Amino acid sequence: MGLETREDILLPGLNLMVRHLMTVDGNLKVDAAACGPPGRCPQCEHPATRVHRRYLRQVSVLPVGGRGLTVRLRVRRFFCDHGQCQRRTFVEQVVGLTEPRRRAPPEARSAMRAVAVELGGRPGQRLCTKLRLYGRRTELLGQLTAPSVPARAADSGHRRVRVGHQAGGPRRAGSCRSLAPPPESVEGRGENVPPTPRLPAAA
Ligand SMILES: [Zn+2]
Repeated sequence: MGLETREDILLPGLNLMVRHLMTVDGNLKVDAAACGPPGRCPQCEHPATRVHRRYLRQVSVLPVGGRGLTVRLRVRRFFCDHGQCQRRTFVEQVVGLTEPRRRAPPEARSAMRAVAVELGGRPGQRLCTKLRLYGRRTELLGQLTAPSVPARAADSGHRRVRVGHQAGGPRRAGSCRSLAPPPESVEGRGENVPPTPRLPAAA
């Protein structure tokens, strides 16, 4: 039986080193540092050689042993020294844990999305709190994506717009109004149009 490290138990398969582990209100907080090789610029793929600065970012992962787990991760921002690249600096990412402008890794976002689909915002947030899973209302709803519109429906020829107020009185917010002309005004469909009166003949 092999000896397992804290990284193997808490955050297996990730390129980082756990420095401290503490318990706060029954949840686990981990101080860790990314320790992979210098990354490549996401714009030009040039490998980095110089560190611009280091800073902390917080990542909420799936619970471990029924306890919430938050990682305070020390990451590096590198210079891009490629002369023709427009990007000056970039932040390293730990594969499987961090992505740009994301607070949760893919597995945690997948769990949040499942909760949001079943329960929506506020009830989903309450369930996440009970499960010690990170998931605020707005972030749960942010995991939802609108279903794609079938091509025929999108190209139906009846453009519909949302109207809040209209001439002749306010409409209920969110109601739809068709911009297609009514049938009786279409040329060639004159059943409801009164006949044109005949004018007396000129003397
Ligand atoms: Zn670059």
